[in-house]
Amino acid sequence: MNVNQSAPPLPPFGQPQPIYPGYHQSSYGGQPGSTAAPTPYGAYNGPVPGYQQTPPPGVSRAPASSGAPPASTAQGPCGQTAYGQFGQGDVQNGPSSGVQMQRLPGSQPFASAPLAPVVSQPAVLQPYGPPPTSAQVTAQLAGMQISGAVAPAPPASGLGYGPPTSLASASGSFPNSGLYGSYPQGQAPPLGQGHPGAQPPQRSVPPQASSFTPPASGGPRMPSMTGPLLPGQSFGGPPVSQPNHVSSPPPQALPPGTQMTGPPGPPPPMHSSQQPGYQLQQNGSFGPARGPQSNYGSPYPGAATFGSQPGPPQPLPPKRLDPDAIPSPIQVIEDDRNNRGSEPFVTGVRGQVPPLVTTNFLVKDQGNASPRYIRCTSYNIPCTSDMAKQAQVPLAAVIKPLARLPPEEASPYVVDHGESGPLRCNRCKAYMCPFMQFVEGGRRFQCCFCSCINDVPPQYFQHLDHTGKRVDAYDRPELSLGSYEFLATVDYCKNNKFPIPPAFIFMIDVSYNAVRSGLVRLLCEELKSLLDFLPREGGAEESAIRVGFVTYNKVLHFYNVKSSLAQPQMMVVSDVGDMFVPLLDGFLVNVIESRAVITSLLDQIPEMFADTRETETVFAPVIQAGMEALKAAECAGKLFLFHTSLPIAEAPGKLKNRDDRKLINTDKEKTLFQPQSGAYQTLAKECVAQGCCVDLFLFPNQYVDVATLSVVPQLTGGSVYKYACFQVENDQERFLSDLRRDVQKVVGFDAVMRVRTSTGIRAVDFFGAFYMSNTTDVELAGLDGDKTVTVEFKHDDRLNEENGALLQCALLYTSCAGQRRLRIHNLALNCCTQLADLYRNCETDTLINYMAKFAYRGVLSSPVKTVRDTLITQCAQILACYRKNCASPSSAGQLILPECMKLLPVYLNCVLKSEVLQPGAEVTTDDRAYVRQLVTSMDVAETNVFFYPRLLPLTKSPIENTTEPPAVRASEERLSNGDIYLLENGLNLFLWVGASVQQGVVQSLFGVSSFSQITSGLSVLPVLDNLLSKKVRGLIDSLRAQRSRYMKLIVVKQEDKLEMLFKHFLVEDKSLSGGASYVDFLCHMHKEIRQLLS
Ligand SMILES: [Zn+2]
Repeated sequence: MNVNQSAPPLPPFGQPQPIYPGYHQSSYGGQPGSTAAPTPYGAYNGPVPGYQQTPPPGVSRAPASSGAPPASTAQGPCGQTAYGQFGQGDVQNGPSSGVQMQRLPGSQPFASAPLAPVVSQPAVLQPYGPPPTSAQVTAQLAGMQISGAVAPAPPASGLGYGPPTSLASASGSFPNSGLYGSYPQGQAPPLGQGHPGAQPPQRSVPPQASSFTPPASGGPRMPSMTGPLLPGQSFGGPPVSQPNHVSSPPPQALPPGTQMTGPPGPPPPMHSSQQPGYQLQQNGSFGPARGPQSNYGSPYPGAATFGSQPGPPQPLPPKRLDPDAIPSPIQVIEDDRNNRGSEPFVTGVRGQVPPLVTTNFLVKDQGNASPRYIRCTSYNIPCTSDMAKQAQVPLAAVIKPLARLPPEEASPYVVDHGESGPLRCNRCKAYMCPFMQFVEGGRRFQCCFCSCINDVPPQYFQHLDHTGKRVDAYDRPELSLGSYEFLATVDYCKNNKFPIPPAFIFMIDVSYNAVRSGLVRLLCEELKSLLDFLPREGGAEESAIRVGFVTYNKVLHFYNVKSSLAQPQMMVVSDVGDMFVPLLDGFLVNVIESRAVITSLLDQIPEMFADTRETETVFAPVIQAGMEALKAAECAGKLFLFHTSLPIAEAPGKLKNRDDRKLINTDKEKTLFQPQSGAYQTLAKECVAQGCCVDLFLFPNQYVDVATLSVVPQLTGGSVYKYACFQVENDQERFLSDLRRDVQKVVGFDAVMRVRTSTGIRAVDFFGAFYMSNTTDVELAGLDGDKTVTVEFKHDDRLNEENGALLQCALLYTSCAGQRRLRIHNLALNCCTQLADLYRNCETDTLINYMAKFAYRGVLSSPVKTVRDTLITQCAQILACYRKNCASPSSAGQLILPECMKLLPVYLNCVLKSEVLQPGAEVTTDDRAYVRQLVTSMDVAETNVFFYPRLLPLTKSPIENTTEPPAVRASEERLSNGDIYLLENGLNLFLWVGASVQQGVVQSLFGVSSFSQITSGLSVLPVLDNLLSKKVRGLIDSLRAQRSRYMKLIVVKQEDKLEMLFKHFLVEDKSLSGGASYVDFLCHMHKEIRQLLS
């Protein structure tokens, strides 16, 4: 079998024409499928202006409940914090443990600390020929290394890494908690509708061993060189055999130790620390000296002194590692954009590493799924598990089955095979795909996953051409494309009945806090118009989705909004302990038919509860009610819950305030992330069985126990939004923007996802928002275009280079119109017997996505410190393995990073410093649970910017230039006090104003005459008629449009109190919560690697 497709001619279905009814040979007919980018919200004009303040008669006001709300409850800790995604309040926390952030001036004595990381990228056997500037850089770097240094490294201190012995203690991987990931088989009833003839049960595998086996003592040591070793060369990998994203031409031409990633321009100064301009910087706690300076006299490329320097090192003043000399995320992103942004990414070739997520590129599907659907940690998988264990590189795919595509790219074709349904392998049940091999003149096909020979049904028969390919291959999406859909037959439906269209139920907290903040009024007003924008199938004129309404506090109110009624009717259910749905007829309705009654209801709700004194709420019974309503209506659907407080009313799922910050950094910290009641998991299981997805909008004024309340959204494929201390005037834009997007999202309901693999590897672990009742089926009550599932693979046999490895992700789901479909994504990967091939085809952004999710799940079951240590150890093992097997042994003192992974340390450090793993004093327990939950479903682009924010200088580029300015590194050093910067991470958006910004700029942007007059914490820029104002506001709009959640702007002035909040996002710097700076972390990583190698 050869899955390495030659690039076929462009198929004749280059246009988006997804519906594929009754297959025709010559062309594809039909309209775009429902999975096309959702209808933009352009026509939406905001709240209806003519809002009626006076409620029409017809529904009686709810009786005021007992108990006046204590003012303190309503206020909570919110008085002080009108800003912040996470509602951070105090930013008073100073540097922890007295570690100074300032750099120490001057030099330090030559000491025993040979911690001189020298970052060196693999040169790919290119001839020496560095431009003079690079040679200088080389000299600088090489000068910082110790030749063959073996002196013990000083103990780390003060940064929370623990002593070197932490390696041992952290060597075990923490067990799967079972809460959010894999569930033991048999814990939930199997879904009846999925995958007829399921795959044979698969063995479970033990958790990945994280102990590192040095090649010298056993593991297969791969020859690291296939070409001549140049003198002094510190990298000796085989020649690059195929293109990867190592694509910065000038650096590639440099010898090892020279590949610089700093910004272009004048070279960093020579190694002499006396040279003016060379930055001496104190590195914090990894020891006093960065590394001794040896006399580096030989001109490069004499090379005699490179890597292994003759003669004793001479005591020269030590130097700090130049930040410009360590790998720069900005440079890597820029290089990839420049090198790979102009050409479309054509998926016909097996094992190609796609451009980075930060690069804009088009995709042409020629047989493998687009990277928008699937990204892998490596596109070249080790052939054996021994090799994989040695490298410690996690083998994982981040899958976004319903990803939205840019308008230029066609959404998957829908293939209809009629009553016979999709063609599948009889044994493993894999779906027909481009990698299946037709044999015996086309009468049979051999499965590319399990090698079973299957008969081709007569109606599917086609002759083969002289190459053995079916002559109709390019007319059939399932034979020529990486991604496509099949219409499912009734066999794929629950109870063997075709589904009816799903329903949305809006469930609105009307307790005192919700009313008082203005939420109830705002929401009801918005819904009146938003209901016109429910998701639609393809070109359908109206949405098939029905809607229903519930309000609640301690009791639930159901509304009959049947079109024949003159006014809505309310039914109160006060027995929340045994929830039932008091009405069936008239609860779920068509929006257009019941328009008048719905509008009347939404007008009346704010009035009915305007005087409520009820502060207590229930929560689990609300979800139960919504789920029962869908069950009664025999449909799948989504609940939109708008909730404000900890549910303390007497009811199932009642919670208590168990927040306790004293648990941080103790073994009990994990309990802060665990749900406090098992009731929510049971409820979630019932929801999943019904195809009931729950989206939760939280408006807390104080602790609401996000960890528990988010269990049902998490397990049902839903989303959680949190607006701490919600006030209409401050937060309306963010909330409405999120709500609009959420309601309009195309969603697949009642879904089951299965990832099949070719013999040799299989999916063993899953991360994301879903439920699993067995070890293979990912059950998703709902799945939208933003959600990803990260899947980890392990070997169960040998792979071979010729066949490679195949993945097939099959998602069975119900579309918004109630159509049952299968979406198939196929991806072929290469396999290697050389470790260097693995390291050359990795994708660090995807690795970080996996590692963050792995760690964030780990905090449920292990102390946070253990989780952090595990990450550090794994990273060190990955890099040490590279160092040992792929780089030349002649340069022991150097830190040598694989080109594709040179950003692994900086990004991993960002994960380690994140709220979840190392919270600052201002981060609440709910914030941490919220972020933990969010990251679990993020795609690679989202984790990338979330962990390493984008920092954009605004006045550097010409004002006429409206394109996005090039980013700078997220460090205070990069801020000029004469400039203005935008910083975003997908959730937060800051505008930082330097204290010395020109008065004209201040006037143009803020409409005030001086820096001091700018309001700190401002969240809206004034609309001013000048180029700069338009440019900046336009840029803010464009950043927001790129993200799945609305980012509220916060204006931060230099030296202002709010600046502390902003500095949290300057992730290359040491953080106030104790997180290491990038430079320090790199030194630490180097030390860990050296320990592993010694
Ligand atoms: Zn098969």
